[in-house]
Amino acid sequence: MRVLVLGAGVVGVSAAWFLRAAGHSVVVLERQPGPALETSFANGGQISASHAEPWANPAAPAKIVRWLSRADAPLLFRPRLELGQWLWGAAFLRECRSDRTTANIRTICRLALHSRAVVKRLRRELALEYDCLEGGILHFYTDRREFEASLAPAALMRELGCARQSMSTREALALEPALEAIADDIVGADYCAEDESGDAHKFSRELAARCVDRGVEFRFETTATSLLVADGRVLGARARCADREPEEIRADATIICLGVQSALLLRPLGMRPLIYPGKGYSATFDGAEPERVPRVSLTDDQFKLVFSRLGNRLRVAGTAEIGAWDLALDPIRCAALTKRTQQLFPDACDYTRPNYWAGLRPVTPSNVPYLGPTCVPGLFLNAGHGTLGWTLGPGSGELIAQVVSGKMPAVDLPPVAA
Ligand SMILES: Cc1cc2nc3c(=O)[nH]c(=O)nc-3n(C[C@H](O)[C@H](O)[C@H](O)COP(=O)(O)OP(=O)(O)OC[C@H]3O[C@@H](n4cnc5c(N)ncnc54)[C@H](O)[C@@H]3O)c2cc1C
Repeated sequence: MRVLVLGAGVVGVSAAWFLRAAGHSVVVLERQPGPALETSFANGGQISASHAEPWANPAAPAKIVRWLSRADAPLLFRPRLELGQWLWGAAFLRECRSDRTTANIRTICRLALHSRAVVKRLRRELALEYDCLEGGILHFYTDRREFEASLAPAALMRELGCARQSMSTREALALEPALEAIADDIVGADYCAEDESGDAHKFSRELAARCVDRGVEFRFETTATSLLVADGRVLGARARCADREPEEIRADATIICLGVQSALLLRPLGMRPLIYPGKGYSATFDGAEPERVPRVSLTDDQFKLVFSRLGNRLRVAGTAEIGAWDLALDPIRCAALTKRTQQLFPDACDYTRPNYWAGLRPVTPSNVPYLGPTCVPGLFLNAGHGTLGWTLGPGSGELIAQVVSGKMPAVDLPPVAA
């Protein structure tokens, strides 16, 4: 089959790899000059099956209201006169019911465990180099109530096969001595040894190069402008490239991997997937001192920040503003990243020249991605991976390739109702 993949973020590149491995002829369209230059560029770096809890949970509505007036809030919902935001918000509130939260944790955890295994396999088989650290992820808490609230989801995840172990402050410090500066504030932690971290951009770049070696055709600086539809079937896409005439690219199957932009192309078909931007920030610091930067990837529960050591760099990432479509860097949010990192790891890096970045997470109300065939023949979705696109993307690529090839996916897929 000839398969058209739209978008070359970590999700699209992974799909292209597995589609080619399944024997298909694959063309990838990407508007940027290379792979993973948008949301997959400088994320938190965590492959975190142990973080399957979605933003939508019973405690979320009260927290969001409390945070409404804080410019540096970890999750900020700025109400706008935009229908899409209100539809998304209403669906988010429905997903906050405890039965929905539990169902979503189950789905995300299943997908994440599968994807984590896929990443490990790809790394081994293809010798991919992307500043990977296999030290696990340690999630530390400075609020006793939050730590206590984490015990039930941790138990559920263990039931689902994710070895997330709750531990005391003493055990956490033994695991990560770099947390010494705030030892007195930590009230507990949980740790998942099989989780890992790495640079999603480098991974995507390396995997895209292997795709090209195997015959995948990447067309960069090429924007998909609309889907080609005839007789109720998707037959490919129209594309525009700066130096060429617009063209029609035909395919037997077309897969939408356009991250936060995915809904745009689907609207003319009457499909409205609830994928909305969750703007987040990262700061990357050079000159990491090996003795002072964390050895494991960390999650700071109070500030909702993640820290990953990427070679000789330290990256901190977090914060979310629901509905912001711009990539402007807000100085208050940027400064908050550096301040907290310096407070946790004084003298660990060169803090004088932070590299700030913002990206738009493609978030769904449930945090569960749209992954699978649609009701329109020839059209498949692989989008809306939200806070966990690096964690879920490689596995989603394998699953979508299995579905397109008419095989049973290795993991039960969530229903796609777009
Ligand atoms: C601050 C921050 C921290 C994060 N931390 C983590 C983390 O630690 N772990 C984790 O698992 N996830 C994390 N994420 C989430 C993760 O980065 C995303 O879920 C993931 O990158 C989404 O990948 P994607 O391929 O779907 O989207 P993208 O990477 O955005 O790829 C979509 C591609 O489509 C292209 N495109 C769009 N429209 C068109 C068009 N019309 N034609 C052609 N091309 C088009 C874009 O240029 C882009 O390259 C974080 C995100 C942010 C913002």
